[in-house]
Amino acid sequence: MNVEGVGEESITDFLLWKWALIDRKFRSIKVSSFTRQEESSISGADFEMEVWLVGSKLNYPLVFQAKKFVKTYDGYVNKLNYPKNTKNQMSTLLKYASANSRIPFYAFYSLPDEKTKAMCRHNDVEDCGVFMAHAKVVEEFADGKHGRRVSKNDLLGVSNPFHCIFCCPIAFRGYFEKYFPSIDGELSEQSLPEYVRYLLDAHELEISEERVRTFIKEYNLGKFRHIAVYDMRELEESPNKALQRTSR
Ligand SMILES: [Zn+2]
Repeated sequence: MNVEGVGEESITDFLLWKWALIDRKFRSIKVSSFTRQEESSISGADFEMEVWLVGSKLNYPLVFQAKKFVKTYDGYVNKLNYPKNTKNQMSTLLKYASANSRIPFYAFYSLPDEKTKAMCRHNDVEDCGVFMAHAKVVEEFADGKHGRRVSKNDLLGVSNPFHCIFCCPIAFRGYFEKYFPSIDGELSEQSLPEYVRYLLDAHELEISEERVRTFIKEYNLGKFRHIAVYDMRELEESPNKALQRTSR
């Protein structure tokens, strides 16, 4: 709030760095730091990040656009129709997601107030700064279906705290299907791309710059600023194990 010049990109950089520090199941590559050297000073990435939540049965490939929405009202309908009221940025996200079986999300970097309510009521949103909303739901706001005067809390109301993925009572057990029902058609049982496997299995100190450069070219990853994977394979199994233990 107090440092206006800090935009979405810096916030994402900071958050991913912090996440990797506290959790070894998480691994990310700042693609833009590779593409910058090769092309111009502008990375030209279309999307903020691709995050693969890798489970033992299902994978959730999420692709994000990020928005820093702090004030109560701030011309949000126009901002969602970026750039210049063309809605090109959002359309690119939705098209990419449907063509590639990814789930399109908006990450809202925001500040809740006493009136903020997210979809999930299990978690207090008071100290939450990162929310996520399905892009198709956000599109309705861009298209004016909720009027021209949209508040920050209107948008956070169709969002969930980002951390709900991990600490919701139904985390790893149908969380996405419950809160983001329109993902049904987008989830297919696709195998993991090679670069995701590589990130999952490589020790963080073993990640080779050369391999990463090859992946970026081969999979055209330059459209993302960051690529990240989160290994949920053990986490997903643990609720069942716990259940078995109690039933015995
Ligand atoms: Zn929750």
